[in-house]
Amino acid sequence: IVIGMVSGILLGFLLQKLMPNSSDFVIPLYIFDISIRALFVEGIFNVGGQIFVASLKMLVVPLVFVSLICGTCSLKDTSKLGRIGGKAIALYLITTAIAISFAMSLALLLSPGEGVNMTANTTFAAKEAPSLAQVFIQMFPSNPFAAFAQGNMLQVIIFALLFGIAIALSGEAGERVSKLFEDLNVVIMRLVTILMNLAPYGVFCLLAKLFTDLDISTIKNLGMYFGVVFFALVIHGTVTYSVILKLFTGLNPRIFIKKMRDAILFAFSTSSSNATIPVTMETATKKIGVDNSIASFTVPLGATINMDGTAIMQGVATVFIAQVFNVDLSLSDFLMVILTATLASIGTAGVPGVGLIMLAMVLEQVGLPVEGIAIIIGVDRLLDMTRTAVNVTGDCMVTTVVAKSEGQFNESVFLNKNAGQKIE
Ligand code: ASP
Repeated sequence: IVIGMVSGILLGFLLQKLMPNSSDFVIPLYIFDISIRALFVEGIFNVGGQIFVASLKMLVVPLVFVSLICGTCSLKDTSKLGRIGGKAIALYLITTAIAISFAMSLALLLSPGEGVNMTANTTFAAKEAPSLAQVFIQMFPSNPFAAFAQGNMLQVIIFALLFGIAIALSGEAGERVSKLFEDLNVVIMRLVTILMNLAPYGVFCLLAKLFTDLDISTIKNLGMYFGVVFFALVIHGTVTYSVILKLFTGLNPRIFIKKMRDAILFAFSTSSSNATIPVTMETATKKIGVDNSIASFTVPLGATINMDGTAIMQGVATVFIAQVFNVDLSLSDFLMVILTATLASIGTAGVPGVGLIMLAMVLEQVGLPVEGIAIIIGVDRLLDMTRTAVNVTGDCMVTTVVAKSEGQFNESVFLNKNAGQKIE
């Protein structure tokens, strides 16, 4: 996978350099340009990459549904569910609040927006932030099949939990159904493994296409903003998570980060924590040693409600945009940003670019011009990839902490370097 990723990035850059832009219009070069583009970039790389992402997404709903039902049934004492959910949600919200506070402090300290004189030329409309009541109401599916079809993860999770509880309470009939789901789970996990075998090619195609089209010249203009977000992401993903992990579980954070490698690479290549769920789940259970009864619940939940990386981008972006437009933010504005960003992350799914939509809500709340987003949109793709990697690492970290505290953690798997490496 690493080889696929690095060679994809290098090839993308190479193609970008090789392809002349229309300003130096020379016919043979132009023909070379369009044929390379049609054959490789839009052809093989685009098609291969899109098929890869689609097949990952294809697994998400069945995997979450089936493994969550197995997880709930195997808990025996279903009253534990509330406690596990409570711990996970609390940790998800706290880490997000830490992330955004840290990001804003760093941005205030380094002032990335000072002296930037840029004007926005596109307009960006904000969606309204969902109210807490709405978030709760919308978690319950009136039609589970619609929830499956739309891939609404919170609704799928709620339905699977209730279904699992009903199975556990249904005596003999329940046992038969539970056996069926266990078998289904084995089959779906096998499908995940098959897909993982194809991952190097998928990752290669995705990144080759992305880096051919990526306009890196904007990074120069927005260097300070890009640097601050990137730095905050790296510090949060390594230092903050390591401290929390060590504090709550005593586990070695180095081993944890090493084991996260595949999930991080998938998150980086797909920019979607949702699409990465199959890999995050496999990492949590097979490499880190979390029991499926916890991971099947907390991983998809985290992919939907936990977005620390996104919160970091929003924190820095808010301060940056305020500085660019010379607006002074008050303390209550800062608290408002923390609250809105944390709550907004609950109702929005982990898909590419959703962070910007959430940012629009945040800006609106504190009265900053939403067009400010147009300024930073140019560098958002690369930051989206990086923050998704942080989001996914956060999901796994919290999952590990919850599992350890519930005694649903296998330390020998965690300490085994080769656990989950063998792909049959
Ligand atoms: N792409 C991110 C994720 O899926 C969300 C975002 O920040 O846009 O986690």
